[in-house]
Amino acid sequence: MTETARTLWIRHPLACADERAAGGVVIAGTRIVEAVPAGGQPSQAVDETFDASRHVLLPGLVNTHHHFYQTLTRAYSPALNKELFPWLTTLYDVWANLDESQLALASELAMVELLMSGCTTVADHHYVFSGALLNAIDQQVETARRLGVRAALTRGSMSVGRDDGGLPPQSVVQDEQTIIDDSQRLIERYHERGDGAMVTLALAPCSPFSVSRELMQESARLAEMHDVRLHTHLAETEDETDYCQRLFGMRPLDYLEDCGWLSNRSWLAHGIHFNDDEVQRLGRAGTGIAHCPSSNMVLGSGMCRTLELEAAGAPVGLAVDGSASNDHSNLAGEMRQAMLLGRLRYSPSELTHDAVIRWATRGSARCLGRDDIGGLEPGQQADLALFRLDELRFSGAENPLAALLLCGAHRADRVMVAGRWRVVDALPCDVDLEALMARHDEAARRLRAAL
Ligand SMILES: [Zn+2]
Repeated sequence: MTETARTLWIRHPLACADERAAGGVVIAGTRIVEAVPAGGQPSQAVDETFDASRHVLLPGLVNTHHHFYQTLTRAYSPALNKELFPWLTTLYDVWANLDESQLALASELAMVELLMSGCTTVADHHYVFSGALLNAIDQQVETARRLGVRAALTRGSMSVGRDDGGLPPQSVVQDEQTIIDDSQRLIERYHERGDGAMVTLALAPCSPFSVSRELMQESARLAEMHDVRLHTHLAETEDETDYCQRLFGMRPLDYLEDCGWLSNRSWLAHGIHFNDDEVQRLGRAGTGIAHCPSSNMVLGSGMCRTLELEAAGAPVGLAVDGSASNDHSNLAGEMRQAMLLGRLRYSPSELTHDAVIRWATRGSARCLGRDDIGGLEPGQQADLALFRLDELRFSGAENPLAALLLCGAHRADRVMVAGRWRVVDALPCDVDLEALMARHDEAARRLRAAL
């Protein structure tokens, strides 16, 4: 038996998100091989055990949308208290000066922050490709591999700059052929297929208001050819609906369908301003929605129709969104936000803590087109998040799972990705956190000073 195939029983957790695994899970190599019932024992002798009697066990959380580089522009005074379009135009000029060393620090910091919150699969939507950032995705792949985190990276793009009536400065847009060629290069070099993939690539034009129709169509064609997924922002604000009506003579979802994107290959960030008919069409198509509650509240964008979308058949996942509109990258914290925001629309009996945990795990996994992560049953990847409740905020809590959301869990004690512990005693493995923060903060200062 090789070292990696040794078995480890995460024994008798305090509570578990899947009651079929109430006695814990047995890990061999990168996978879960057995779910142990409450009070039970594994069917075969195990090599090691981990006493989880003080831990709440969840499948590793899965993030579906982020912009890592935005950790460098958190709580940035000129962009505060603005709606999406003026917020974007303020920040584009800062982001246009990003360089590779800044992006590397931003990506590492965001991935570590997610990991420490219990997230085992990070996602990023990087669409700023100035001349200094041509290797942005290559760099993110390298960082994800070094940290041992699973990553769904997307090759973003912008092709309509201010000269052509778009919002971004001309220096961060690229021509369509350059984008397509680079997308193809990245897929061929980095996209892993099948169960256990650690790095996947998807194609992600930024939004209907920053790319051409041709690029939307060509991205869909390329994604089908290479069997990779498609991602974009859609239906985030009423301004966007007006923009699409004015420019394309149709609503955002009609435009999306027109470009060949209304399918189960796509997942959309935000997905707020859909009417009843559109919700049904998304459900029939199986198009995923990355729900970003904090960002939607910060920018005053509106509220995603999560439960209607799910009932219609659309996968609904959870996302922290970029750190200039959240401004944290804490997926555990985002679960609380999703539950509280949801209860302004739905009754507490419908919008339960279990529903939100479902979005942050299996729902998110479905958005990313994966059925090998997001659960605790045998065959799933060994991606786990374990939370302890010995903090002031949890003291006196009766229901451990509900307490994670209601009392505001924000830091996992243990996180495992593909069978490897990546967070131990609430600290990331192989990362000098103080040094990373110091370098990241310095990079943020430099970026602001460049304006
Ligand atoms: Zn976004």
